Amino acid sequence: MKITSVEPFILHLPLTSDSISDSTHSITHWGVVGTKITTAEGLEGYGFTGTHAHLPSDRLITACIRDCYAPLLIGEDANDHQRLWTRLARYPSLQWVGRAGITHLALAAVDVALWDLKAKKAGQPLWSLLGGARTEGLEAYNTDIGWLSFSKDALLAGAARAVEEDGFTRIKIKVGHDDPNVDIDRLAAVRQRLGGAVRIAIDANGKWDLPTCQRFCEKARDLNIYWFEEPMWYDDIASHAALARNTAIPVALGEQLYTVDAFRAFIAAGAVHYVQPDVTRLAGITEYIQVADLALAHRLPVVPHAGEMSQVHVHLSYWHPASTILEYIPWIKDHFHEPSNVMDGVFLRPQQPGASTTPLPESFARYGKSLG
Ligand SMILES: [Mg+2]
Repeated sequence: MKITSVEPFILHLPLTSDSISDSTHSITHWGVVGTKITTAEGLEGYGFTGTHAHLPSDRLITACIRDCYAPLLIGEDANDHQRLWTRLARYPSLQWVGRAGITHLALAAVDVALWDLKAKKAGQPLWSLLGGARTEGLEAYNTDIGWLSFSKDALLAGAARAVEEDGFTRIKIKVGHDDPNVDIDRLAAVRQRLGGAVRIAIDANGKWDLPTCQRFCEKARDLNIYWFEEPMWYDDIASHAALARNTAIPVALGEQLYTVDAFRAFIAAGAVHYVQPDVTRLAGITEYIQVADLALAHRLPVVPHAGEMSQVHVHLSYWHPASTILEYIPWIKDHFHEPSNVMDGVFLRPQQPGASTTPLPESFARYGKSLG
């Protein structure tokens, strides 16, 4: 498994709508920014992080892979995965300029590619290589019906379609208007339309402050909210701990946390109930497993954030015992050899060897960007 080449790539893939917004972000494409790693016997591993398809910053990630990590990987044995991860993550000059951000996103892509290689070499899907599936059916929740930019009518129509036609029993709806009463009104309409059985999570993408969240939670008391995701600024442990103590709605977060240390601090403070690691923001699958094990040790459920649109998390969630349900956003799946598909609200279990991260050649041809 001698590594012979490390070739970064950038794909900008269109969404299922022309554009979407939550309280913080507005995008038209999803960036699949990663690398192919090739071995002497001709195996090809693919890994990527997820971005807003902002080419200048995407190129910082690929430059980090090409100029900083590739020289540390070429000629090494990909079987020595843990040693290589540590070498890259703890390389003094790189650690000096980033234990988060660009270097971490780049390391995520490299790590996922190494896991993809390992599973392909074993001839097994990743979940099987890791130890087998914990469940027959991994339940999905649909986020793509609930964007903040959707009108109330579009939100109601999409939520009803997801539940009544597509078989989802769980959805997530974005909140975070300047006036939280607008969000209460939208949520009440969806609850009334769908009835009490459907599980509705909400997500403020870090928009509000503690008093706003407390007032909102009081008003949302009768809406049976499954979890409140990223209510406040991503790094604010104390405010999340206060909210978690003072409301009956469980707190979910983690998509903006880069390290196992950050998760440890939130968990130790009692500031999170649903733990949401993401292989594309943590340093790949290797660090994701550390976070999932940490959550398991605290008996907290793991519900990954899908920065890779669940191509990789479907494997990890079928396997890891702390996993419960998984996010479904169908933006990029059809650009991969094995799409992360859902049928009747349940993720299909991957069957092909690898981590489901190999893009189609035609997607490279049509949506690939110059590395500059
Ligand atoms: Mg979120």
